[in-house]
Formats: sequence, structure tokens, C-alpha cells
Amino acid sequence: MSAIRVAIAGSTGSIGTQALDVLAAEPGSFELVAIGATGRQPEVLIEQARTYRPAIVAVSDESAAAAIIDALPGVDVRVGPEAMPSLAADADVVVNGVVGFAGLSVTLATLAAGRRLALANKESLIAGGPVVQQVRRTPGAELVPVDSEHGAIHQCLRATDNRERVARLVLTASGGPFRGRSSAELANVTVADALAHPTWSMGPKITVDSSTLMNKGLEVIEAYELFGTPAGEAGYGIGFDEIDVVVHPQSIVHSMVEFTDASTIAQLSVPDMRLPIGYALAWPDRITTPFGRIDWSQLGRLDFEAPDHTTFPCLGLAYEAGRIGGTAPAWLNAANEIAVAAFLDGRIAWGDISRVISATLELHDGAGANDAADIIAADTEARRLATSCLIAFAPPVGAPL
Ligand code: MG
Repeated sequence: MSAIRVAIAGSTGSIGTQALDVLAAEPGSFELVAIGATGRQPEVLIEQARTYRPAIVAVSDESAAAAIIDALPGVDVRVGPEAMPSLAADADVVVNGVVGFAGLSVTLATLAAGRRLALANKESLIAGGPVVQQVRRTPGAELVPVDSEHGAIHQCLRATDNRERVARLVLTASGGPFRGRSSAELANVTVADALAHPTWSMGPKITVDSSTLMNKGLEVIEAYELFGTPAGEAGYGIGFDEIDVVVHPQSIVHSMVEFTDASTIAQLSVPDMRLPIGYALAWPDRITTPFGRIDWSQLGRLDFEAPDHTTFPCLGLAYEAGRIGGTAPAWLNAANEIAVAAFLDGRIAWGDISRVISATLELHDGAGANDAADIIAADTEARRLATSCLIAFAPPVGAPL
């Protein structure tokens, strides 16, 4: 069997570098044909290109391109906003590891090209849901999630041949670094506190999302888009009432599917993103490299508890936006990106992240979306409103948060 041709969008980020680890461990199975990144870490991108020798390197940030072109003679260096979406034409699988809404163009281009999308960029599916569902019907297009929970559900769903026998999806959440704490105890947490995730190694944006449980909220919408009602032939008739979240601090059970006979299938592994990345790359086959195995003699116990919606209101906000549908999830995502960036910059407190999102969603205009332009317009408008909401929460100049 010939090697699967892989392109990695967002190669210098956490998902991208771990995807390169998987490819390096399985040289006979995969061929890396292209990598792409913003170019804001030019030395990392150049080093990756020299080590892994893809034929194509995409750089979305034009100001970073000159140094990269100079450093890589003989390589097809593509520059500009269309560079990363163009990679789908040359690959069998595109890993979308771009951070945030910026990944939408890669998601749409890959599915429209009829390729397999290994999707780590959940924001593009959440914000762009109505449009992604259209291009997902392109012949040859496949969407395999690179999110540990959805990768788990994807595996569990293979336990039935009858889509109507799926009753519930149960997403597990580690609970993040602030599990078990009250709102009062979290009033003065720092950026460093929020970035200290107990079980997963991830980029800063998703790690903050994990601390607020917004990551799980986004994943509820992601699960609905991937496996729910609107996906037509890809769907399992699941609505938001059939998607549960349970806190599981050990991050060993990555999610579960309950069937109509109340039998539940779970997927377990050590928490390492290279497993869901490898699953999405190799599907319907599997990679042969185990990146860490469960030691049952040491595992001890697996705990489960209900999420604390009072301390972590972002989870409820996500359910609310998901149920509204249309562009509400795009608004939720945009407001969250603005709020998290402001928190990481020290401009608002951790507890204000949910307040900015809630205040922005209050202003949602109830619009739907027919094409990518509608999604981008919704995203732009929500960012504008969220940015103006920030002012209400920013401390006076010089005051501590
Ligand atoms: Mg996840």
C-alpha cells in the first residue's frame, strides 16, 4: 500500500509538532508533503522544513515570508491567506492544527477538495457549522476529529451498524486546573495558574479554555456538529439533550457512547494527543506505535463527578449558543477568543471571561448562515461587540486585576 500523503496546517503549534512526532514514528505509512504556519516562528518552521523535507511550505503571514523563502531554496514556499488552504490539493489527509477561527479556510478547502480532514481546529466546525455541513457532503470528503473526546466517540460508534441505536454521547472533562474550587477562590487566579493543566499538554488558548470549561462547551457543540442531527448521512440523530458532560479527573476515559440497550462503550488510553492524531491519520486503519500504554496495576481508580455549572458558567453558555444554532456558536467562539486573549494579556480577570461572552451573546441578532461570508461577517461583528464589552471589565490603568 502506498504511503498516505499528509499536509499539516499549523505545523509549529502543539498539534502540528505532535503530528510530526507521529509521522516520524511511522515512516513507512505516511509521506509528509506539506507544512504550513503563520510564519510568526520562522526559525521553527524552517527547522521543520529542513528536518522533514516537505515539498511545499505555506506561510500565511506575508511579513514573515522573505526570510523563510531565503532559507529554503528549492522548496515551493506559498505565501498569503490562501497558502494553507491550498495544501489540500496535494494531500490525502490535511491535519488542521491552526489555532482559533483562522482555521476555517483550511477546514472548508480540505472538505471542498474531497479530502480527509483530520480536524484539531474545533473552532472552525463550531463557528462554521452550517457551512461545514454543506462542504462535508463533497464526494471523498471525510471529517475525522483530532480531539481526544471526539476521537474516542468516533471509535465507540464503530460498535454499532445501526445509527438509530445510539442513545447518548458522554464527553469526559478533566475539570482543568481549577476543579473543585469556588468562584470566590478563583477571583485572583493568574495566567500561570490557568496554564497549569493537570493532565494534558496543549497550547495556551485551549489550556485557558480548559480552565473555564469553555473547551468542554465548545466540544459539546463540536460533538453535535460531528455526530448530531444536522449531519444527515453522517449523523446519529443526537441533539443537545443527548450530549452529557462528566468530569473525570484522571483523563483516562476519553469519552463514551451509550446505546439504546443502555450498554456503554468507552475508549481508554493515557492522555497523549499523539493517539487521536494517529487515529485520524490512519483511519480506518490504526498506527502501530503506542505513545504510552495504560499500566492497569498502577491505574488505581477512575473517578467521575458532575460538572460545577455555577463556578464554570462557560459550559452552560455553550449549550445555550448551540441550542440557538445559526451564527450563535460563531458568536460564542468569537467572544471567547477575544476574552481569552484579553485574559492572557492581563487585561481582564479570569472570572470576566464568562462575563464578556455572556454580555456578547445577549446581543446576538438571531441570524443564520448560508455561506462562508456570513460566518466571517458574524465572527467580525461578535468580535467587535466582545471587544467593546471588554472595556466594562478592564481595571483602571495601573490597578491590579
Ligand atoms: Mg478535547
